[in-house]
Amino acid sequence: MDELSGEVDVLGIGFGPSNLSLAIAIEELNDRRGAGRPLTARFVDVRPRFGWHDGMLLPGTTMQISFLKDLVSLRTPTSPFTFLNYLQEQGRLSDFINLKTFFPTRREFHGYLSWAASRIGLPVSYGTRATRIDWSDGRFEVALESVADGSEVTRVAARHVVIGSGIRPVLPEGVVPGPRVFHNHQLLDRLAGLPSRPHGRFLVVGSGQSAAEVAAYLHDSYPDAEVHASFRRFGYSPSDDTPYANRIFDPEAVDEFFTAPPELKQQLLDSHWQTNYSAVDADLIRDLFRREYDESTRGVRRLVVHNVTGIERLSESADGVTATIRDLGDRGSTTLEVDAAVFATGFRPADTRSMLGPSIDGSSSFEGERPIVERDYRLRLPSVPERIFLNGGVQHSHGLTSSLLSNVAVRAADILRAITDEQPATQPDHHATQQR
Ligand SMILES: Cc1cc2nc3c(=O)[nH]c(=O)nc-3n(C[C@H](O)[C@H](O)[C@H](O)COP(=O)(O)OP(=O)(O)OC[C@H]3O[C@@H](n4cnc5c(N)ncnc54)[C@H](O)[C@@H]3O)c2cc1C
Repeated sequence: MDELSGEVDVLGIGFGPSNLSLAIAIEELNDRRGAGRPLTARFVDVRPRFGWHDGMLLPGTTMQISFLKDLVSLRTPTSPFTFLNYLQEQGRLSDFINLKTFFPTRREFHGYLSWAASRIGLPVSYGTRATRIDWSDGRFEVALESVADGSEVTRVAARHVVIGSGIRPVLPEGVVPGPRVFHNHQLLDRLAGLPSRPHGRFLVVGSGQSAAEVAAYLHDSYPDAEVHASFRRFGYSPSDDTPYANRIFDPEAVDEFFTAPPELKQQLLDSHWQTNYSAVDADLIRDLFRREYDESTRGVRRLVVHNVTGIERLSESADGVTATIRDLGDRGSTTLEVDAAVFATGFRPADTRSMLGPSIDGSSSFEGERPIVERDYRLRLPSVPERIFLNGGVQHSHGLTSSLLSNVAVRAADILRAITDEQPATQPDHHATQQR
C-alpha cells in the first residue's frame, strides 16, 4: 500500500472511468503548462487493481454506447487515450474496422480502460478506501483506510476533492445476501465459489439488461441446468437507442436538463428511462424467446420465464435456496429449490452525505438523499470556501448520463475548468453546436 502524505490540489475518490477520465484531463493540462506549476493530484480506489464491473464481464456482451464515447474523444479527439489508439497499439485497428460495429465487447472495453489506467502517471492507491472528508486549516482532509485490514492508513490534505465513487448494488428489501443469494454485480466470482449444485436450477430476478444477460449466460454455461427468470413486468421491454432519444446522452443535453424546472426534469427522466434502465437490447430479447420456444418444441424446458411475478419467500441453506414465486394477479405460486438466486435488481448512487465529517456543515447541501449540485458539479457547501465535486451520481440535476459513460470526457473537463479556470484542450463549443 502506498503511503500518502502532503497536500495535493485534487484528491480523487474512486478510480473508475469517471475519475480516470479526469486524471487524463489533468495530465493533458499539465502537459500544456509545460514548465509551469503542474496541478497535483492523487486518486484512491477500494479495488485491489483497476477494474470495471468485473463480475459482469460475460462472454460476448457488448457495450451499450459507441466506442467514440470513450474516456477522451468527446473532449480531446486527438488524445493518445482514445479507444482507436488502444486498438492501434494492440494491432487490432484494421480488424475492428472490419467488424463494422460501434459496440465493442465489454471485455474489450475493459481491456481499453485497464490500458488507459496503466498509462496514468499520477499516483493511484488501490486497496484504499476514503472514509471521511473533513475541513481543517483552510483545506480538506480525507481519511483513508486500508481495505485489507481496515486500519487507517493516513489523512491526505487536498484543496479540492472529486468524488467519483460510482454506484452501489441494490437488493430488494428483506433479501439477505449469502453464498447462494447475491446481486448480479458479483456474478462470476460467486458462481465460481458456489459450494455445490445439487438442484441443477438457477433463479434470476429482474427484467433489465443485466437480468437478461445473466439468464442467457447461465443457460449457455450450465447446459444441464434450468434457468428460471422472475420479473414483475409482462415481458422484457426493449431499450430505445434510436437517434432522437439518444440525444438525451449528448453533452449538450446536460445544459438543457440542468436548467429545466423540476417537473420537466422528472418528465424527461420518466419518458427516457427506457433508453437505458429496466430495458433490454431487442436482439437479446428475441434470442431468449427463441431459446424458450425451441425448448417447447422439443419438450425440454430449461429456460422458464415467470412474468408478472414477485418473490414471496426466499430462504438459503447450506445446500441451496428455496424460493416461492407468486403471480402478482394472485393466480397461484411456484416453489423452487435452486442452487443460486441472482438478483439483477439495479443500483443506486453512492451516498455522499455519509462521507462528510462533523467539521463540514452539510445541512443545506442535500434535499432528502439527493446532493444539491451546481452546473459545474460542485456540491453546494456554503460553509466551506473550497470545493467538493461529484463526478457522477447526479442524475436528478444533470440527467441520465450522469451514471453512465457517455459524458465522462466532457464532465471531467467541466470539473477541471471549475478547478483551474483553464479551458481544456480542444473542447468543443457546446452552445454553438446547440444552435445549429
Ligand atoms: C454490468 C454493467 C455494464 C454497464 N455498461 C455500460 C455501458 O455499456 N455504457 C454506459 O454508459 N454505462 C454502462 N454501465 C454504467 C456504469 O455506471 C458506467 O459504465 C461506469 O462504471 C461509471 O463510471 P464511474 O467511474 O462513475 O463509476 P464506477 O465504475 O462504479 O467506479 C467507481 C469506483 O469508485 C471506487 N470507490 C467507491 N467508493 C470508494 C471509496 N469510498 N473510496 C475509494 N474508492 C471508492 C469503486 O471501487 C470503483 O472502482 C454499466 C454498468 C454495469 C453494472
